[in-house]
Amino acid sequence: MSARLIDGTAIGAEIRASALPAVQAFTADSGRPPGLGIVLVGENPASEVYVRNKVKAGSDAGIWVDLQRLPAAASLDELLRLVDRLNASDRHDGILVQSPLPAGMGKHASQRVFDAIDPDKDVDGFHPVNVGKLVQGRAHLKPCTPSGVIEMLDRAGIAIAGRHAVVIGRSEIVGKPMAMLLLQRDATVTVCHSKTADLPAVAASGDILVAAIGRPAFVTRDFVKPGATVIDVGTTPVGDRALVESIYGSASPRLETFAKRGSVVVGDVHPSVAEVAGALTPVPGGVGPLTIAMLLKNTVAAAQARAGARA
Ligand code: NAP
Repeated sequence: MSARLIDGTAIGAEIRASALPAVQAFTADSGRPPGLGIVLVGENPASEVYVRNKVKAGSDAGIWVDLQRLPAAASLDELLRLVDRLNASDRHDGILVQSPLPAGMGKHASQRVFDAIDPDKDVDGFHPVNVGKLVQGRAHLKPCTPSGVIEMLDRAGIAIAGRHAVVIGRSEIVGKPMAMLLLQRDATVTVCHSKTADLPAVAASGDILVAAIGRPAFVTRDFVKPGATVIDVGTTPVGDRALVESIYGSASPRLETFAKRGSVVVGDVHPSVAEVAGALTPVPGGVGPLTIAMLLKNTVAAAQARAGARA
């Protein structure tokens, strides 16, 4: 069996195109485009790429994207003051603070920042109010990556209701909200993590398997039920040529990319899974474009809701 590849780039483009009329209508009605503030602290190379892609996608969609940078040595207080300014701004409908924050900001810095963002502008859906609403099934702003996965399953024609979904990973930003959204769509959900016993066997009981771990090629074919849909959320930059070769083989075009860039982005799912799965998302070109598309959707939704609240 060779798995059908689910084309996240094409699905993401469809979603972004479908947001354009709403952006235009909002801009015409409000005399300004929807506004998104993105805060990037430090110079993490992976974050630089993610932020660049978000800025470009937002600008291409007609959204005003305001990129605010802070140096890696900035204090948490400085960051919280910036968030306060964006909260108070009328032009910023959405606020996103790119993760991860520099370790020097402290262990609980991300949570402090998520807590500080106005829930109505929380386009990442990480504020406790929005997390609570998500659990109750009435979230207006849902976390972009897991809601992108649901959108992807729907658009790829993969049924969710009644299926067994296994999520590997229980982070606040991917694993937990993913499990919640699958549950709301009537899947039977199992959440796995680093202490799960006999992980391959549990994973292989899933009709839908979502890997959100951050370990390159960790999910091998023994984790996968034949015919299952496998969603690979993982994106780990790998700078070790031998590891890239051991994952993809010595004839893989990935080695050319590696030669050009000095690293390649590797998912959590091993390429051999394509021989067992029914459908599979590639990395890159799978979940990543959906995350960005959902961010734009959330920004427009936040702008509309704020305008509605003022009317
Ligand atoms: P995270 O906060 O580091 O969480 C990783 C999760 O994986 C944890 O729950 C951890 O379990 C679990 N895990 C780690 N090692 C494991 C093992 N050996 N067996 C089973 N479970 C294990 O990561 P995250 O923020 O959720 O991100 C996960 C991956 O998704 C990363 O590669 C990230 O770059 C990627 N990502 C991609 C997108 C996108 O748009 N494509 C968006 C967000 C994240 P414990 O809780 O027990 O430690």
